[in-house]
Amino acid sequence: MAEVLVLVDHAGGKIRKATAELLTIARRLGEPSAVYIGPNAETAQVTLAKYGAHKVYVYDAPDALEYLVAPQAEILASVVEKASPLAVLIPSNSAGKEIAARLGIRTESGVITDAVDVVAGAEGVETTQSVFAGSYTVKATVTKGSAIVAVKPNSVAIEPAPAAGAVEKIDITLSDAAKAAKITESKPKESTGRPELTEAKIVVSGGRGTGGDFGPVEEFADSLGAAVGASRAAVDAGWYPHSNQVGQTGKQVSPQLYVAAGISGAIQHRAGMQTSKTIVAINKDEEAPIFELVDFGVVGDLFTVLPQATEVVKKA
Ligand code: FAD
Repeated sequence: MAEVLVLVDHAGGKIRKATAELLTIARRLGEPSAVYIGPNAETAQVTLAKYGAHKVYVYDAPDALEYLVAPQAEILASVVEKASPLAVLIPSNSAGKEIAARLGIRTESGVITDAVDVVAGAEGVETTQSVFAGSYTVKATVTKGSAIVAVKPNSVAIEPAPAAGAVEKIDITLSDAAKAAKITESKPKESTGRPELTEAKIVVSGGRGTGGDFGPVEEFADSLGAAVGASRAAVDAGWYPHSNQVGQTGKQVSPQLYVAAGISGAIQHRAGMQTSKTIVAINKDEEAPIFELVDFGVVGDLFTVLPQATEVVKKA
């Protein structure tokens, strides 16, 4: 069975959800192996095996994460050269897309980014991409080399499937070119205790309709264990950080449930959330364009509707 590599996305050994999703996809294509770069590989190995990694390639030299993404592409390329996998799956975030591009050049392979589905087809690895900020769906087949596919978070439901998870060390010396940009400082954002916007299963977003008071939005989000998003109008007004902006010039999210409160539904906002599985809007204007794409709409004042909804969720 063909080998399929998954680049592990982790925080100090703690596996991010995107990795379990990629391993779930990898199992449909062939035999999944994980490529782990960084320290604490032993912690990660157990989780990787739980989600189906037959083998875990480990690069844990201290220089692994001291530089920007070039070393990761070089390390991955060394495994690709050795294993000739059918595909390499990478999370489709900004670092992942750069790694995919660099890996494509190094291995002369076809690259697809922003994939939402990946299957084994008669002519090779077939992908479904969500492009132009989610307004088009494109099917493409990689015809050259190992298919390098960056997959959007939340594209599949995770299914555990225990496997061996045997460890194999990656033995390479990073080139000077890979070490051309060194990280001099890396400060994590102060944690809100909420899930990361692009990984969250539920996102509750507020817009100009909040008038700057995100309290009801945050309380409803917290009752659901959701991430908080914001429209650009809310961000431009300084009510919420840009890191939480959803849309064309913000983040693209595709959660199971997206709740838009006090957001009109401009095309640029839709571009970041219209692939959400279920969309709910709360808006006091029944003519608001957001109602054109919702599954459920509430015409009402968010300051009345959200506290009521929070109470109901808390009681449930
Ligand atoms: P508005 O359009 O002002 O809508 C506010 C809504 O709240 C209205 O529908 C109103 O009826 C409702 N409302 C008011 N009070 C209440 C209440 N008490 N209860 C319930 N409802 C209430 N926008 C993004 O969001 N993300 C982007 O990434 C983005 N990128 C852009 C890129 C470009 C190049 C450009 C030109 C624009 C971009 N925009 C983006 C801006 C976008 O065009 C809209 O201006 C913006 O999305 C509007 O935000 P909003 O819906 O919060 O505000």
